[in-house]
Amino acid sequence: MRSVLRAQYLDRGTLDRLTLAGLRGALDHARARVMAYDDHRYDIGVPRDLTDFARLPMLRKADVLAAGEDRFRDPAFARDAVTVYTTSGTSGQVLEAWHDPANHAHDRASNIRRFAAAGWRYRPWSRLVHFKPHPVGVAWYQRIGVFRRSLVFSALPVRTRVERMLLERPQAVIGYPVMLRDLLRGMRSDELAALRRTLRVVFTESELLTPEIRRQLTDGFGVPIFNEYSAFELLHIAYDCPEGHLHVAEDRVHVEIVDAEGSAVPDGTEGHVVVTGWRERAMPLLRYWLGDRATRHTGRCACGRTFARLELTKGRADDYVLLPDGERIYAGTFIGMAINTAGVAECMVRQDSAGNITLWLVPDARAGRDFDDLARDARAWLHDSAGRPFDLDVRRAETVELTKGGKGRFVVSEFRR
Ligand SMILES: [Zn+2]
Repeated sequence: MRSVLRAQYLDRGTLDRLTLAGLRGALDHARARVMAYDDHRYDIGVPRDLTDFARLPMLRKADVLAAGEDRFRDPAFARDAVTVYTTSGTSGQVLEAWHDPANHAHDRASNIRRFAAAGWRYRPWSRLVHFKPHPVGVAWYQRIGVFRRSLVFSALPVRTRVERMLLERPQAVIGYPVMLRDLLRGMRSDELAALRRTLRVVFTESELLTPEIRRQLTDGFGVPIFNEYSAFELLHIAYDCPEGHLHVAEDRVHVEIVDAEGSAVPDGTEGHVVVTGWRERAMPLLRYWLGDRATRHTGRCACGRTFARLELTKGRADDYVLLPDGERIYAGTFIGMAINTAGVAECMVRQDSAGNITLWLVPDARAGRDFDDLARDARAWLHDSAGRPFDLDVRRAETVELTKGGKGRFVVSEFRR
């Protein structure tokens, strides 16, 4: 743990050396043990520097699924010996990411470092309300053994969410940025005043926080916001410092910013985020394209941390459908359904201009389930998560629509009042 805390203050030269050594180790392992990398495009010898490493092809989720997830796994790791995260993300395609024990332990230590960055505002015994779209993944409080917490599903009616939160008199609140913004919109001024009497800090997670949403949340809650940037495929990627800058966890990931062709852009220029989690051995994903856009900065931060900074600009998931009661169901809830309903390979959600919601499900043939059963389970999961029924047409699809970039449009709504 001490070395994880110290790493964030190492000088640039040392960090670059560590990164290069980490990337060499990951490439070496992947070439020797993982079938997908037994390919001439990865035959570049030992990379001499980071530019050399950037000559490797990029991977997108669609590439991994098309080639077969198993081809990206080291056969030495059995499924019950790794931590499995199932993701659908906003592409609507379900991928099972494997993380080996050492990498997962480093991820947990990095999360403690993340919460420590909030200083006195958060203590392990703080009263905390966690808004989540679905009950999956390893929650950070489980990782560090925090007992006082309250989980609230983010698809519940906003009155229910506000009342449950206030009942806890929370000192900290955690949730996806768009869902917290939605919560603020649903609160009366006396409720907000009551919340502000106890609240010390807001943590955001799993989704990018643009400067605009950060400002709305800071103004609304009246406390500092600490963001985390992560992905199921890579675990922890970056975390906020007290200056409000997002630092890349360079002791576990290498982040590149590239243009549409995959070539690196200079620091300070916006581009696509490509990440290599170089500690991963169970399922290494080298140069993994995440679909977010960001700018990278390596100049000094006033907080003293030397890890490079990212400024996220465009993200994956703030799409939603609007229910007849005027409330929103965000992409995250549908992602939860896809992950938790056995036999769903892919899905997408469409709402037409009249407000009709259609859920398209691509069945996973391997599961061998009757489609009517699948549709019934999916509908029941969504209604349960939302705490009330809503009209939903569930239909069968053979594949989901993808854009040219290989990214699915997961939730598209043409209905706005
Ligand atoms: Zn900083």
